[in-house]
Amino acid sequence: MKHWGIRARLTFSYAVLFALLLAIAGGALYRSAAARLKADTNTSLDHSCSGLWGYFEFPDGQPILAYDREDHDILFFLRSAARYYQLYDSEDGRLLMEAEDSALLHLSRGPQDVLRLRQHPGFDEVLAPGGVPFRFRSMEFRSPARHPFLLRVGRSLMEEESDERELLRLLLLLMPAGTAVALVAGWVMAGRALKPVQQLRLAADEIGISQLDRRLPLRGTNDELDLLAGTFNQAFTRLEKSVAEMKQFTASISHELRTPLACLQAEAERALQNRELSDRCRQIFANQLEEFHRLDSLLRRLLTLARAEAGEIRIVAEEFDVAEFLVSTAEQIKFVADSRGVNLQLNCAGPVAVLGDRHWLQSAVLNLLDNALKFTPAGGRVLLESKAQGGLAIIEFSDTGIGIAEQDLPHIFERFFRANASRSREVEGVGLGLAIAKWIIEAHHGSIEVQSRVGAGSRFTVCLPLAQGAVLRAQAR
Ligand code: ADP
Repeated sequence: MKHWGIRARLTFSYAVLFALLLAIAGGALYRSAAARLKADTNTSLDHSCSGLWGYFEFPDGQPILAYDREDHDILFFLRSAARYYQLYDSEDGRLLMEAEDSALLHLSRGPQDVLRLRQHPGFDEVLAPGGVPFRFRSMEFRSPARHPFLLRVGRSLMEEESDERELLRLLLLLMPAGTAVALVAGWVMAGRALKPVQQLRLAADEIGISQLDRRLPLRGTNDELDLLAGTFNQAFTRLEKSVAEMKQFTASISHELRTPLACLQAEAERALQNRELSDRCRQIFANQLEEFHRLDSLLRRLLTLARAEAGEIRIVAEEFDVAEFLVSTAEQIKFVADSRGVNLQLNCAGPVAVLGDRHWLQSAVLNLLDNALKFTPAGGRVLLESKAQGGLAIIEFSDTGIGIAEQDLPHIFERFFRANASRSREVEGVGLGLAIAKWIIEAHHGSIEVQSRVGAGSRFTVCLPLAQGAVLRAQAR
């Protein structure tokens, strides 16, 4: 139950409640129908008993059945309602007369029983040989000469019991069928009731860190869900304000820090030019310079992202060939590949014309290539490929590096995210390269995707729209 969704829990509770009500109602119905059947049999036995007594006559004090042998109604009555009767002398319990069928089934009682029944006339049940149950009605009557007789009229309970069984069978069938219907109806109703919650969830899901100006829709019903959406919206407003302040702070601090950093960098460079410097001091300044460079690169990246998000970066688009562009960009990083012992290969079929800002796209490609080289151990391979397909220029960066764990994949484009693989931690970086690359590619109306398996390598695929002219030329070809 712990992991079930609200919909499943609502459906389950509804179905259990419905099954319980069905069982109670079914039980009550069965009991009342059984009582009704019994009462009907008893009333009919009452009528048969007193009706039959009317046909007895007592010439010489001995009972005989006197009726018109041609009267079909009487004959039918004797063969059905009064089919099993016995007449006893009430005083000594002797059996005086008995219907043929009653005698056949040995349904008569001994004198002791008759004397007891005389004390408590009413209904009693007898089992015929073969286990067929019979109910008898005993009534005491007096002949015109005031002699007491006990008349018993019986009826087989087979029919009554089979009716009860049929009803029980029907109820037992109805229970699972009703519960199944309740399950389906409950599932549908719970789905309908929870639909606004689902819509709220989807709308909230779409609000990422870069869409904090969006708000959840209010339905105007003023119900609990509207109140919840309102509360979420207030939280989004606060969040938007804090994020804006944080971005502003990052941009300002990065900007402010760059000037003193540039001074420190210049000083360290100047100090290094001093020939009288001892080896130890030289080493210290060289280390400092390296750290200053790293810090400067971080500040530059932070500023780039802050400016990009503030809409301050202009994309100056020109048409160029992706194949040639990739070859010249890869050239810039070739020495890094060589120094790390990684084989950088190119397979760029050209020309593939795109419309874009070379400077920014180069920055994105360098980030991706740098990552591929950083996370590929010596002896590995990095392959850069490009082609035109379906109106898009497709650029693929494949490496045989350490790969990215499945749970990290959805986060690698987030700023400051670094996958937790131990190797990745040892490698230099702050987790901004992919965020910047993604921004650049999306600013060009393109997309970036990643496929990766730990230990097997990664493949980043960048898609950029082809320049209109290129599309037309391709169509013409
Ligand atoms: P950085 O490289 O500075 O850490 P990025 O934003 O460029 O930051 O990358 C984020 C994280 O994604 C990296 O820390 C690394 O864990 C993972 N990553 C990116 N590219 C690759 C790659 N080609 N192979 C393995 N992991 C990668």
